Amino acid sequence: MLNNPPPDYRFDRYVRQTRYPPFGDAGQRRLAQSRVLVCGCGALGSTLANLLVRAGVGSVRIVDRDFVEATNLQRQVLFDEEDVERQLPKAVAAAEKLRRINSHVEIDAVVADVDHTNVERLCEGVDCIVDGTDNFQTRFLLNDAAVKLGIPWVYGGCLGAEGQTMTIVPGETACLRCLMRECPPPGTTPTCDTAGILGPIVGVIASIQALEAMKVLSGHRQDVSRSLTVVELWDARVRQVDVSTLRDQVDCPACKGGELVWLSGREGGHTAVLCGRNAVQLAHTGVSVPLEELARRLDGVGQVTKNPFLVRLRVDQYELTVFADGRAIVGGTSDVAAAKTLYAKYVGH
Ligand SMILES: [Zn+2]
Repeated sequence: MLNNPPPDYRFDRYVRQTRYPPFGDAGQRRLAQSRVLVCGCGALGSTLANLLVRAGVGSVRIVDRDFVEATNLQRQVLFDEEDVERQLPKAVAAAEKLRRINSHVEIDAVVADVDHTNVERLCEGVDCIVDGTDNFQTRFLLNDAAVKLGIPWVYGGCLGAEGQTMTIVPGETACLRCLMRECPPPGTTPTCDTAGILGPIVGVIASIQALEAMKVLSGHRQDVSRSLTVVELWDARVRQVDVSTLRDQVDCPACKGGELVWLSGREGGHTAVLCGRNAVQLAHTGVSVPLEELARRLDGVGQVTKNPFLVRLRVDQYELTVFADGRAIVGGTSDVAAAKTLYAKYVGH
């Protein structure tokens, strides 16, 4: 008979963070029972998922609509060249890595575009949402869903060598619409495609976001930041904009008025120009595409590759990637009409 029970590896592995007094064993136990949604698994999302899974959250749901490309590797820390070769969806590639990092965390990979028809389902049962998206439309939608469901969420965004983040606790702190009344119209703000992005700023912003989420998930909600944090990394400058009284000062249509126009589908489009490359995404909700059949049909049209998640056709200067849910990403153009034409020509519908 053993005098001492064997060490509990599941718990022991976190000893360096439980030793930090404000977090402690109690924080770790609560974290282990928590659920988090990582919305978007690009640069911010993959860094967030990495940190949160290593920290020992109970479960992570990762949702992303995209697949891994060579230009992602400079800043998207969970992916490697093999993922690019295999043309894996980011959510799937991330889940594979994360399971090897921490097999005790339940990981749910969802390959989908977040829109008003599925956002509430994706948020179901989670205790916190972290923002790994690359566009304001999805952030305003997330804000609506979080306000309706009362789920804290951590906004984050990066561009160039700059980034910002803010923690939103619905009903307590300012929400995204308290901060920005309207969503910037598409095409009016720079993107990673036009302004570029440096890897280190992603690490800084995602790290702040991850710790804010850990506070929420470990029972330290009262300690979340009440500031909008803006980091300008090229000049090594950090600015804190106090938002602790913002909610009292503005007449917010969302968190005070209950007008959730993004969640109702009144705002927000189905077509988006992707961040980071010359490409258009076309979304077709409620459609299911038989990928095997499509791949057979396209054979001979151009160069066709496939895996269980997508079919890709290279023809002329275009690259058409079709997912099982009917979504497509048309590379080689930023013209929505041209992308639709190509989709209609080769996929039909
Ligand atoms: Zn608000």
